[in-house]
Amino acid sequence: MGIDISQASLEEIGEEHVGTSLETPLREDAFEMDDDLKVELIEKHFREIMHIMGLDLTDDSLKGTPHRVAKMYVKEVFSGLNPKNKPIAKLFENKYKYKEMLVEKDITFHSHCEHHFVPIYGNAHVAYISKGEVIGLSKINRIVQYFAKRPQVQERLTMQIGNELKEVLKTDDVAVILDANHMCVSSRGVQDTNSSTVTSFYSGKFEKDEQSRNEFLKYISLEK
Ligand SMILES: [Zn+2]
Repeated sequence: MGIDISQASLEEIGEEHVGTSLETPLREDAFEMDDDLKVELIEKHFREIMHIMGLDLTDDSLKGTPHRVAKMYVKEVFSGLNPKNKPIAKLFENKYKYKEMLVEKDITFHSHCEHHFVPIYGNAHVAYISKGEVIGLSKINRIVQYFAKRPQVQERLTMQIGNELKEVLKTDDVAVILDANHMCVSSRGVQDTNSSTVTSFYSGKFEKDEQSRNEFLKYISLEK
């Protein structure tokens, strides 16, 4: 059981976008229901939300919205909650014995703030130093997108990507930087449209060795 937190501090956690754990808080029975049943139930509840807001659900334009939203939640924007959708990363032998840093920058991602369920979008920059095996480049994008497709806080998303890459690539030498815009900051609340949020994850050489870290930072700041 969680600690009893007062309503006021729960409000503050949400408004200040504080995450409370590294793992996405999922229940043990999270996937006992199949996707189709989830779509059916969410559709019903979303229809109810729209109805309560006073919308006329017999209108042709609105009629299909509850189903579309439910399908989008389960099969698209929150599909990364389900471990069965986790990308399987195939590794290749590093034939060229490439020992330098590999950087993939400007990986676009779309996520959702878990406190308001509105979009977070931005770019991820990822680097690793191979310990003998390499990963297909598109797999890095897929790993980023898998973890992005969850209700998230940006710090957790950064760390989940970093930890997954460490595990998949069997190396500690991993760095991740996310630069993102939060619609819950730009379209509501303080309505700041200019600010972006940068978070980082440095492990192994990137954590210990300033030169590696600076090299990575230099690559990602290159003009396109
Ligand atoms: Zn938010």
